[in-house]
Amino acid sequence: MTEPDRNCVIVALDFATEHDAWHLLEQLDPRRCRVKVGKELFTRAGPAFVRRVVDFGFDVFLDLKFHDIPNTVSGACSAAADLGCWMVNVHASGGREMMSAAAERLAHYQSRPLLVAVTVLTSMDHASVLEVGYGAAPDKLVPQLATLAQGCGLDGVVCSAHEIETIRQQCGSTFVAVTPGIRPQGSADHDQRRVATPAGALSAGADFLVIGRPITRAADCVAALDAIYVEISATQAP
Ligand code: C5P
Repeated sequence: MTEPDRNCVIVALDFATEHDAWHLLEQLDPRRCRVKVGKELFTRAGPAFVRRVVDFGFDVFLDLKFHDIPNTVSGACSAAADLGCWMVNVHASGGREMMSAAAERLAHYQSRPLLVAVTVLTSMDHASVLEVGYGAAPDKLVPQLATLAQGCGLDGVVCSAHEIETIRQQCGSTFVAVTPGIRPQGSADHDQRRVATPAGALSAGADFLVIGRPITRAADCVAALDAIYVEISATQAP
């Protein structure tokens, strides 16, 4: 995507309670952001919560990072599609057969979620990638997994901003790049390692920015989101 989506921020609803998530959702405008439900909130609030957020008008990225045998993962992706999710993800390291099974299962839907593959978590640096036994550093491993995911029929990948340029060269401009590890100027990195600013990630070629704590832990969440869009548009002004 050369023109960034006007709705490119995906707010990570990493809350311990449904109540806290609704407190934020009621302040957000579904035309100004998408939202992501991850493992913590899903495990607490479940599919009924996801359906309510979809019905409330938000595009929902169900970020459960499925990683299991092909039959189990394809069934889980189908369940996400039935919930009306806008995006769902699997781990690319689950391999060709697993990713292909997920893509084939979703292909039967008339309207289906985008299916993206997590490459290497943005919380992992070079040393931690090597420690778990991968033979390559993230700058080689992530594009390799992206090419594999594309070959399996996936719509895109979750990666850090650092690898997007190579992914664009190998997978083209329509392959979706979803980027967590986003930190506006002056924000703490927390547990993230391969980080970039919102504007930096977009100029590297990201389609969507996943942003959690810099928004959800701000004193004024809506002001924090607005400031991110201001930062983005300032750097994109001609
Ligand atoms: O708070 P923060 O902005 O670091 O949140 C990032 C979100 O993106 C978290 O919900 C995390 O689970 C998710 N994520 C990630 N790295 C990936 C995939 C998803 O940080 N590779």
